[in-house]
Amino acid sequence: MSKQLNVALIGNPNTGKTSVFNALTGLNQKVGNYPGITVDKKQGICKLSRGVKAHILDLPGTYSLNASSLDENVVIELLLNKNDKDYPDVAIIVSDVENLKRNLLLFTQIKDLKIPTILVINMSDLMTRKGITLDIELLEAKFHTKIALISTRKNSGITELKQLIESYKTISTEPCLDTTTIDTDYFQSLEKAFPNQDIYKLWLVITQDANFGKITRQELDVSKFKTKSNQELKRLQQKEAIKRYQFINAILKEGQIIDRSKATGLRSKLDRLLIHKVWGYMIFFIILLTIFQAIYDWATIPMDLIDTTFAGLAEWIKNTFPGGGKVTDLVAEGIVSGIGGIVIFIPQIAFLFFFISILEESGYMSRVVFLMDRVMRRFGLSGKSLVPLISGTACAIPAVMATRNIENWKERLITILVVPFTTCSARLPVYLIIIALVIPEGYIIGLSYQALTLMALYLLGFGMAIFSAYILDRILKTKHKTFFVVEMPNYKLPLLKNVIITVIEKTKTFVFEAGKIILAISIILWVLASYGPGDKFNNAESYVQTYETQSAHERSDQIAAYKLEHSYIGIIGKTIEPMIKPLGYDWKVGIGLVASFAAREVFVGTLATIYSVGSASEGENIDTIKTKMQNETYADGTKVFTLASGISLLLFYAFAMQCMSTLAIVKRETKSWKWPILQLIGMTAIAYICALIAFQFLK
Ligand code: GDP
Ligand code: MG
Repeated sequence: MSKQLNVALIGNPNTGKTSVFNALTGLNQKVGNYPGITVDKKQGICKLSRGVKAHILDLPGTYSLNASSLDENVVIELLLNKNDKDYPDVAIIVSDVENLKRNLLLFTQIKDLKIPTILVINMSDLMTRKGITLDIELLEAKFHTKIALISTRKNSGITELKQLIESYKTISTEPCLDTTTIDTDYFQSLEKAFPNQDIYKLWLVITQDANFGKITRQELDVSKFKTKSNQELKRLQQKEAIKRYQFINAILKEGQIIDRSKATGLRSKLDRLLIHKVWGYMIFFIILLTIFQAIYDWATIPMDLIDTTFAGLAEWIKNTFPGGGKVTDLVAEGIVSGIGGIVIFIPQIAFLFFFISILEESGYMSRVVFLMDRVMRRFGLSGKSLVPLISGTACAIPAVMATRNIENWKERLITILVVPFTTCSARLPVYLIIIALVIPEGYIIGLSYQALTLMALYLLGFGMAIFSAYILDRILKTKHKTFFVVEMPNYKLPLLKNVIITVIEKTKTFVFEAGKIILAISIILWVLASYGPGDKFNNAESYVQTYETQSAHERSDQIAAYKLEHSYIGIIGKTIEPMIKPLGYDWKVGIGLVASFAAREVFVGTLATIYSVGSASEGENIDTIKTKMQNETYADGTKVFTLASGISLLLFYAFAMQCMSTLAIVKRETKSWKWPILQLIGMTAIAYICALIAFQFLK
């Protein structure tokens, strides 16, 4: 058995924790969740010399130990609980050389918990350019710590850091601040009440209750020690911060020299342009357009490839195991096409996160957040809601997850609730086929009607999201007051390694979180469509009339369609027909709708089954489905798919909450069924009303 050492990476956001983590662990890492809450938990293994392995935990970004968000709370919960299996043997505080003063506040707090603490000063590559000089020896002595001056970008100092981790036992645990000096009387009485406890730890527990009220630890019950109001406690916290800054400033005065004349003015010049009242928005708009263009253009190549591969695979299975019966059918029609339906979204999701992560890494995203905050705030959203709303165009699931860095709960909740209105990639196939069906081909000033319709649908999604946010902002009552902190990090060339790791991580989340649900649903759908009650389903052959002129093939098509009509899903479709008739749909579309409540992208597949079951061996493609849909008529000879019913269907898909995976993730993120249920009912009602109005108006 080799020894294992627990190492926690702690630091302000954007100091390069994740980069240090990647440098230490490489790809030996896994991302999970903290139990019960939805903060990402990243852990990995770093091999040190002589068979020692360090277990590295990348903790969420934290400004101080006075938590004001879920993310920060995770750090404190861990540091206050010696029994936690992740409790660090050694803490690494990652700071960046440009914001040393602010970073050191957290450092002194962790140090005062008497955990052996290494100070990493990252981004040393920027020192010359910014005119910064550090006296490392002096800083080490004054802060009673060991310092690693590193640059993950230049890959320098990492070996030294590993050595420091190995010899963590030699690091002094002498505190930086004598806690009792904050308020002598109060802390002496605290010491008396809990003679065996560490005073700073007690103080953190007490203020934590006052700040966040989410403490889950029982071992330290401080509830009886309420001698100060929350307001007084906050004041003492401020006093603590001031004392810490005095301590830090005094040391930095000696140990750090910044020669401002050497710093370049590039940042301020870029900022002036990128957050300009007019140019800022224009540039952002152009960047967005470029990204979308790229996503749709580039992603189609791998998507087509995946599409044909899976269709081929399904066919191969059917041909290789002919007469394999139900099992072959389930594998070919249910499972393979189910997995295909998940995999097909990977290219778009990967591209989207590739771009988002470049924007974030380069420091540009913070400018956009700042820029958009002015606009978004009017609608009850935060500037930070922008990223989720944009990510929503790929898939609502990562988008809902991306709301985690919105500090204000009300803004976060509203963002989660409205994100599913943005046009996700699952709606795209539905839109494409219906547009092709009902919107005429033709051009107006060089733009095709069909493309314009598609764009209008995207705008409609955003518009509805913003509009409902505005309404929700008036309706929802929460106590949280609004505040907005945005980091303006320096511009940087994105680190390719970080970008790639982000893309892999997000794609994996999509495949596993959404994938398993989509897969389960396609199997259920297959079962509902392949079985039915009663004789009409089981003896379809004897019910379907034979005509003389009919080929064997046409007959088997007819039998299959008859079976579907009397299968369980057919019965469901017929049951809801009276409800959807006013929207202009028949029971077959009804089946598609029911299936889509699980996941929208199954709509086209379901219709393909309904309109062309049995003839799949002929090499089914969108065009033939389209032709069949075009020729579909009611008993009286009128067409099912007209402009009116088409627009109505488009609107229904634009607004309805038809995605179980999203509902599941909303439940997870809000920790309550209340919100996903509200979402389901509210969105479906809006969709129904809009579709109804459109159909009745246009028919
Ligand atoms: P975290 O938020 O603390 O996890 O920080 P990240 O690891 O995500 O890094 C934040 C930003 O700093 C990214 O844009 C990185 O590319 C950049 N960065 C990380 N390490 C260095 C470094 O050594 N030098 C420079 N110049 N930039 C770095
Ligand atoms: Mg990070």
